[in-house]
Amino acid sequence: MDFAERVTRVEPSATIAISNLAAELEADGVDVVDLSVGEPDFDTPENVKNAAKEAMDAGNTGYTPSDGIPELKDAIVEKLHADGLTQYESENVLVTPGGKQALYEVFQSLIDDGDEVCLLDPAWVSYEAMVKLAGGSLTRVDTAAHGFDLEPALDDLAATVSDDTELLVVNSPGNPHGSVYSDAALEGVRDLAVEHDITVISDEIYKEITYDGREATSLGTLEGMADRTITLNGFSKAYAMTGWRLGYFAGPEELIEQAGKLHSHSVTCAVNFVQHAGVEALRNTDETIEEMRAAFEQRRDMLVDLFAEHGKDVPEPEGAFYMMLPVDGDDQDWAEKAVEEAHVATVPGSPFGTPGYVRLSYAASRERLREAVERLAEADLL
Ligand code: PLP
Repeated sequence: MDFAERVTRVEPSATIAISNLAAELEADGVDVVDLSVGEPDFDTPENVKNAAKEAMDAGNTGYTPSDGIPELKDAIVEKLHADGLTQYESENVLVTPGGKQALYEVFQSLIDDGDEVCLLDPAWVSYEAMVKLAGGSLTRVDTAAHGFDLEPALDDLAATVSDDTELLVVNSPGNPHGSVYSDAALEGVRDLAVEHDITVISDEIYKEITYDGREATSLGTLEGMADRTITLNGFSKAYAMTGWRLGYFAGPEELIEQAGKLHSHSVTCAVNFVQHAGVEALRNTDETIEEMRAAFEQRRDMLVDLFAEHGKDVPEPEGAFYMMLPVDGDDQDWAEKAVEEAHVATVPGSPFGTPGYVRLSYAASRERLREAVERLAEADLL
C-alpha cells in the first residue's frame, strides 16, 4: 500500500515498546508492576456511572448536536466561569470524544504546512505527533535543566519564540513533569504571547490534581489572554473516565465554527449518554475528586521518600500523577532493563524531549509502588 506522507512522518506512541515487553512477560506469568500508564487506578464514580445508565434507559442513545448537548455545554461553561474564565459562553465550547480529539481538532484547524508550534519540554508525546500530522514545524524549550520549572526557562522561551510562532502549548499541571507553573511564569508566557501575537493552548486536563494546597491558574484568566487562549480539558483524569472518551475545548467562536466542520465530518458528536454522565461528573463529584487527589498526594510523598532512602533525589511533582526519575545512562536502555530485570514498566524520557529521565505514573496502590522501588533497588537501577 502507498501510505500518505502525513502518517508515515509520525512515530507510534513511546509507551508501546515497553508495554509490549511488559505484555510478553505477563503472558509468561511474570508479575510486572506497571507504572507506565497515564490512567487513574480508580473506578469511575458510582453516581457518574448511574447517570449514564439512566440516560441510556431514558433513550439518550442517538446522535446529539455535533458540538454537544446543551446541558453539558452549560455545565462546562459553569466550570470555566468558576475557574475565572468568564470570557467563554456556550458558543465558545466544543464537546469532543476525549481531550485528545479536542487537541487534534485544534491543531488541524490552526496549523498549515510549515507553521511553527512551540512546546515546553518535557512535553506530552502526542503534541509532537499531532503537530507533525498537521504539517507544522516544532521549536522546543527545555525546562528539565531548571527542575521542570518554567520561570527560569523564560529567557530561553523568549529566545525561541518569534513573530513566526503560531501556537504555544502550556500544560500545567503537566504530563510528564508534574509541575504547576507559577503565576509569574504564566505572566512571562503572556507577555511573549502578546508581544508576538501567539495563540496559546492551555491543556488543563490535570487541573484538579494539585498538591500542598496549590491551585493551577488557568492561563486564559490573565489580562491580555482572554482571546488568545484555547482552554482544553477532558474527563479522563480528574473523574477517572479514561474509557468514556469525553473532553472539550473553549476558544473564540470562529475557532469553534472552523473546528466544528472537522468535528461534524469526522466524529459527528461525543457519545450521547456519556455526555449526560459528564454533566453529573462536573456537578456532583467534589468529594470523590478530593479522595483521589489526596490519595495521589500521599503516594507522591511516599515515592519521593522511598527514592530519597535509596539516594535518589527526585524533583517533587506539584500535580498530575507522574514523576520524572533521573536515571544513569541511556533512558531507553534503563527502561528496558527495568522491565526485563526488575519487572517494573516505566516510560523513557527521550520521547518527551527529556533524555536521562524516565516517567513513572503513581496511579498504582502504595503496596505496588513500594514493591516497584524495592525491585528497582535490587536490580541496581537506583
Ligand atoms: N493532555 C494530556 C497532557 C494528557 O496526558 C492526556 C492523556 O494522557 C490528554 C491530554 C488526553 O486525554 P483524553 O484523550 O483521555 O481526554
